[in-house]
Formats: sequence, structure tokens, C-alpha cells
Amino acid sequence: MQPDLFDSPAPAPKPRDERTAALYRDLVKLGDMLGDGMGDEPDGKWIRDEYRRVAKALGHCPPRRNRGAAIDVAVSKHLETNRCECGGLFKQTRSGSLRVFCTACCTKYRLRESKPAKAR
Ligand SMILES: [Zn+2]
Repeated sequence: MQPDLFDSPAPAPKPRDERTAALYRDLVKLGDMLGDGMGDEPDGKWIRDEYRRVAKALGHCPPRRNRGAAIDVAVSKHLETNRCECGGLFKQTRSGSLRVFCTACCTKYRLRESKPAKAR
């Protein structure tokens, strides 16, 4: 690297770079906290969550698994047993999407992830 090759002033950092730098600072800070074992304390879960969030924002996470196939199966199952309020048939908006729309009235719905439903 020869930073002095050009004598023009360094370009102002782009907002995105600042954001990235801030994320890195957070990541290091959170990483230190996790290293101290704080993430394993009863109220330390947020640290792990936050660390994961920041790492993800920086693109440090393992590549997203392709959940498309699983989603398609779940959605098509849902479509078999559900109808729109108007009685119309649902259709998946596109492959891998949790969104469906009613072919009769065009209302869009977002299916929930197939996690166990919360008891109400
Ligand atoms: Zn409808």
C-alpha cells in the first residue's frame, strides 16, 4: 500500500463506512463481553443476540441456508388447508416466500414461520 501516492485529500468516509466501523466497534465490545462469560449469565442473552445481529449486519455469519424448499413445503401445506376470508384460493407470491395472496380478492398475507404457535 502506498497511501502517499496520490496527494489529493482522502475522500470523506461514506456513511456506510462509518456505520460499518461502528458495527465493528460493537462487535469487538460484545465479543469481549462474551469472552468474559457475560453471555452465559442469566440476563446475558441479549449480548449473544446482539452479537449475532451485529455479526450478521457485517456479513460475518455463515451464508444463509437456503430455506426455500422447506418454506415451499410449509406454504403449500398451508395452502391445502386454508382459504382466504373471501373463500378464494391462496397462491404463494413466489418460490421461497412466506407470502401468499388470494387469487380472488388479491389480499396478501404473510404466513408465520412454522414455530409452535404461542398459546393465547
Ligand atoms: Zn380473498
